[in-house]
Amino acid sequence: MNKITIIGAGLSGTLLAIMLQQKGYTVEVYERRPDMRQVNITAGRSINLALSERGLRALQKAGIGTPILQEAVPMYGRHIHLAEGGEQFQPYSGRKDECIYSISRGGLNIALMNKLEAIGGCIHFNQKCMGMDYQEQAVTFQDTKKNKTYTISTEAVIGTDGASSAIRKQMMQQAPRLRFSFSQTYLGHGYKELHIPPKTNGGFALDKNALHIWPRGGFMLIALPNKDGSFTVTLFHPFEGEEGLHALEDTGKAKTFFEREFPDALALMPTFEQDWVNNPNSSLATIKCYPWQVEGKSLLLGDAAHAIVPFYGQGMNCSFEDCLVFLESLDKYKGNWEAIFEDYQQNRKKDTDAIADLAEENFYEMRDQVANPTFILKRKLETL
Ligand code: FAD
Repeated sequence: MNKITIIGAGLSGTLLAIMLQQKGYTVEVYERRPDMRQVNITAGRSINLALSERGLRALQKAGIGTPILQEAVPMYGRHIHLAEGGEQFQPYSGRKDECIYSISRGGLNIALMNKLEAIGGCIHFNQKCMGMDYQEQAVTFQDTKKNKTYTISTEAVIGTDGASSAIRKQMMQQAPRLRFSFSQTYLGHGYKELHIPPKTNGGFALDKNALHIWPRGGFMLIALPNKDGSFTVTLFHPFEGEEGLHALEDTGKAKTFFEREFPDALALMPTFEQDWVNNPNSSLATIKCYPWQVEGKSLLLGDAAHAIVPFYGQGMNCSFEDCLVFLESLDKYKGNWEAIFEDYQQNRKKDTDAIADLAEENFYEMRDQVANPTFILKRKLETL
């Protein structure tokens, strides 16, 4: 069998498709959204992302690491904006050249799509996966443009359709037979994105080569640089409470809250009110499930198998690393899908559970500890 069906042309689906195509498989990718190269849509949940070594290694394996890095902004550490007004730079490493990268989600997804098509892979847009029939080994799609439903037969399906995966929902429906375990745990915090534009001369309004954090105990603001001189700002904040995200729906109240907590950041956001109203409050959850495969017929990979909270900056990186680990199983058990899928899930599950737990722990560290003087001193000593 050489033909593989991938559901979801997001970050992990397109990278996996490239790697399979490079191995000589014929790959068909089905994506529910329109082609973001032709229609102006948001690329997904955050405008930019932190790309680190784990993810970069996978991009390099697919031969696209170098062009992608040209579009990224290196970040050499955390730039902390303290409540009392001071600032502190905490390098990520004792080595001056070690960094992570801020990259546009849309730009990265488009680069992956372009590469896939350039090597003969095929993406069908506006095709929403509705479910899978394991007896018939058939997948049902809705063509959302033509409003028509149809079914295709296929031997192996890989669900890279993100945190609300349709393939995973299908597995849930057969949970007792598959002994399918599933958990979805929401944080009490959600997030809202805001924007710092470039300065009038085109320069960056804050230190360009850092991930900026304004830790404030129970909540925090972060900002990642974009190539065009702007920053994407994210408030992570509790939904509930007198000054929670729900209570701050009133823009006047939100502005008063920012004037008190983040006056330096607010001063750099001329479109604060507009962004506050237009950008949604989004929730954050950890999803764990197992098994990830059904009889060599379907497999979950990326967020579909393990969605994690973004505080370790590892969701995409980990999904890219999934693709590398998958290639090892593919090479070991060529053509035997049940053996490939089984080997992959057994090798990978414990690592993704560990990273999910680390991501939650890092949320508490970023929220509470990075502004703590003892922690700052310890970091300084570590990096001297
Ligand atoms: P997705 O990117 O969600 O892609 C899924 C694709 O499947 C989408 O294109 C979707 O349209 C498509 N799809 C969904 N359902 C269907 C269907 N039924 N039929 C067909 N297609 C379908 N990670 C990092 O490594 N670094 C970061 O800095 C970082 N920051 C983040 C910030 C925030 C606020 C959030 C929420 C997440 C962040 N992440 C980060 C995590 C990262 O976004 C995800 O881990 C990553 O997008 C997972 O990629 P994926 O391809 O598995 O899923």
